[in-house]
Amino acid sequence: MTKFNPYATSNAVLKGLGPTNGVRRIGDLVAMPLRAELPNRCVKCNREAHEPTPTRRLYWYPAWCYLFILVPLLLILVILATYKDAYIRPGLCRDHKRNRIEAITTAWVGVFVAITVPFMFADTGYLWPAVWFSIALLLGVIVCALRRGRLVYATRLDRREVWLAGCGEDFLDSLPGN
Ligand SMILES: [Zn+2]
Repeated sequence: MTKFNPYATSNAVLKGLGPTNGVRRIGDLVAMPLRAELPNRCVKCNREAHEPTPTRRLYWYPAWCYLFILVPLLLILVILATYKDAYIRPGLCRDHKRNRIEAITTAWVGVFVAITVPFMFADTGYLWPAVWFSIALLLGVIVCALRRGRLVYATRLDRREVWLAGCGEDFLDSLPGN
């Protein structure tokens, strides 16, 4: 029989800070202390992560930066002055790693086609339709890349914690929290 140990960490503390080092679920988000490690699972489906899991740098800047969206130079300066960053290691299983590489490759092919097409039609009467096609293609590429290629992104970042969006339901379910 185990003896009572008055110095043992209480279960209540372990629940919040023990096995997951303070990594927890808040709704659809994952909150984690900056020095914590994410569980070594796929952040999309919670299967075992396929090694290696590279460290990724996440950026965050306040939403009010977009007030300057019509003045791109000012927007860039405000973002540079206010951004914060964090280094995290979000795992991916073999399938989700492959999906992401496919999405990124497809996006680059799309960008290449979008840049090339107007040049192909430069000396024809179809230049402007080609330009509109390229703009539509670029917008489509951006939307697809964000939906399929984006791993996780920071919705909040301060000196102690980062909040991550983009994790799958199974991974969220495996974390303590609500
Ligand atoms: Zn997965």
